[in-house]
Amino acid sequence: MLRFLFAAGLALASQPVHCKTIPISQPEQKFIYCVEGMCSPLSNLFLHRLGIPLNTHHTCQHNNHYALTFDDGPSRNFKKVLDLLASEHIQATFFVVGQNLAALDQGGLQLLKQAYEAGHEIANHSYSHKDLTKQTPQDILQELGTTRDLILKILGDHEKTQFTSSIIRPPFGYTNFSVQELLEKNGYTVVRWNADRFDWRENQAVQRQIIIDRVMQQFEQIDLNLTEADNKSILDLNHDFSEATLTALPDMIKLIKARGYQFVTMTECLLGDAENERKRSGTKDH
Ligand SMILES: [Zn+2]
Repeated sequence: MLRFLFAAGLALASQPVHCKTIPISQPEQKFIYCVEGMCSPLSNLFLHRLGIPLNTHHTCQHNNHYALTFDDGPSRNFKKVLDLLASEHIQATFFVVGQNLAALDQGGLQLLKQAYEAGHEIANHSYSHKDLTKQTPQDILQELGTTRDLILKILGDHEKTQFTSSIIRPPFGYTNFSVQELLEKNGYTVVRWNADRFDWRENQAVQRQIIIDRVMQQFEQIDLNLTEADNKSILDLNHDFSEATLTALPDMIKLIKARGYQFVTMTECLLGDAENERKRSGTKDH
């Protein structure tokens, strides 16, 4: 089981983080968890017993939320993905790698700013994409803090960017209890996923249709395994460098919309109504 979980693909820095870590609200609530074409109904409590820390997010708060996320960029396909998302009027979240940000030219920096201004969120996927569970606490904080500082430097140091740059997806999804404790203590919110279609393995013949089939599979398994008391949200994992995902994206979006899901960014996914309530009341808790 552990191999199944981790095969799907989880461990700071110059400035202290001032955000609050968001706890899992219903640890025992079931959700669907898919790796390649294989899905199982799991819960955070179940995963916790297998060694994944309890406050690692795998889903959104709301049943009808779909968080579309892209890791490892910004890549050569970043603009193409942004154009596709714009044509569908939906926002996504990009978990970026710090060293990719450091290498951006003026055009790349401009594109990242445009993405942010279009409502997409830029979250943190470490600086050099190393397994955090194999690093020292100092190195972990350096990896995440440097990337966080880069995001703030490029997009501006705002309440919003402070929050999103502190949302961490550990490289490969590798995490453990000591990594989680360190990250929580430093104000980071840790996120994995509940649908990994292995689009990063496209050189092993993962093609567009396979990606589409796996999206359909996750919905079929929700219908078969979950009840109204369960969490039907999807927090997926894509890579913007993947040609398979790029070509599958328009049909993926149609399928997701046809199921009645609302596309959300990670902030909306994690905070649910709390974010809207916060905006309405004007309170600032990050
Ligand atoms: Zn990655």
